[in-house]
Amino acid sequence: MKRQTERPMVAAKRKRACRYCRTYRGVIRKYGLMICRRCFVEQAGALGFKKYE
Ligand SMILES: [Zn+2]
Repeated sequence: MKRQTERPMVAAKRKRACRYCRTYRGVIRKYGLMICRRCFVEQAGALGFKKYE
């Protein structure tokens, strides 16, 4: 069996990373945003979402 350069989990994590800050925590994949909650709040206005008050 060949040794893989990347484990599937790592590759999957990389795919899920926030496209702004590259974190894996709290990344929202809904609506194809692919950004974390923190960046979501920052980008919410630009993306046309309203902040949750
Ligand atoms: Zn982020």
